[in-house]
Amino acid sequence: MNIESKLSGHWTDEEIIGHLYGVGPENGHLEHCADCQIRLSAMQAQRQALETATADNDGVTFDFLAAQRRAIYQRLEQPVRWWSLAYVRRVAAGIAAAVVLSGSAYMYQQNRSMEMARERAEDAKLLQEVTAMASMDSGAQSTEPLQGLFE
Ligand SMILES: [Zn+2]
Repeated sequence: MNIESKLSGHWTDEEIIGHLYGVGPENGHLEHCADCQIRLSAMQAQRQALETATADNDGVTFDFLAAQRRAIYQRLEQPVRWWSLAYVRRVAAGIAAAVVLSGSAYMYQQNRSMEMARERAEDAKLLQEVTAMASMDSGAQSTEPLQGLFE
């Protein structure tokens, strides 16, 4: 077709493209050739379509880059947020464990002192009983070594 265009005096595709970019032939052929005008407008439409597509691509690229940047920022932020949340949870768990431990230690001590008091009361009771039995048996003197045991 290019050769045909050359032979018939029509502009070649390259010449029409050159004209689109302002470097086409200056022979005035386009002004009185309907065929070449149609080819020119077809090429103009193609170039416009290409430019629109490029512009769209640029838009997509920008959006893509922006989305990518947001995703990266989110990925950068998330571990920190998760870490701090995990840290708070760990601290809270530690405090809860400490409270439970000290609470149970306190309870254990309370129980232990109550037990000891009970034991002491039982000892005193036993001592009283033994003393009573001993005093009934053979007088107050014989209970002295026993009293020493419980003191
Ligand atoms: Zn022509």
